[in-house]
Amino acid sequence: MIQQCDDCAKHIFYPRSICPHCFSDNISWKQSNGRGAIYSYTTIHQAFGPFKDDVPFVAALVDLDEGVRMLTRIVGEREQIAINKRVKVTFHQLKDDLVLPYFELE
Ligand SMILES: [Zn+2]
Repeated sequence: MIQQCDDCAKHIFYPRSICPHCFSDNISWKQSNGRGAIYSYTTIHQAFGPFKDDVPFVAALVDLDEGVRMLTRIVGEREQIAINKRVKVTFHQLKDDLVLPYFELE
C-alpha cells in the first residue's frame, strides 16, 4: 500500500499526513502494483542489528511504477542485478510484528 493525494493524484512515499506536492491533507492509501525498476544499488558487506547475519546483501533504490522511489533490498542472484532492471515486490517477515517489502528481479 502507498499513499495517493486525492487532490493532485500524485503518489507519496514515505507515508506522511500532508501531500508534499500540493500540501493537501486529503490522502488515501492505494494498492501499488508492486512493480518497478532499479534506480541504483550497492552491496552491503558489513551490517549490524537485525541485518548483521544477512551480509552480503544488496540495498537498492527502486522507482515504483506509481512514480515514487523507495529504499529496499533486492533478493536473488546478485550477479543478475543491474540498474534499470525490472523488479517486483516480495514480502519478508523479520519478526512476528515486522514485515518488510523487498524486491526480486522479474
Ligand atoms: Zn497533492
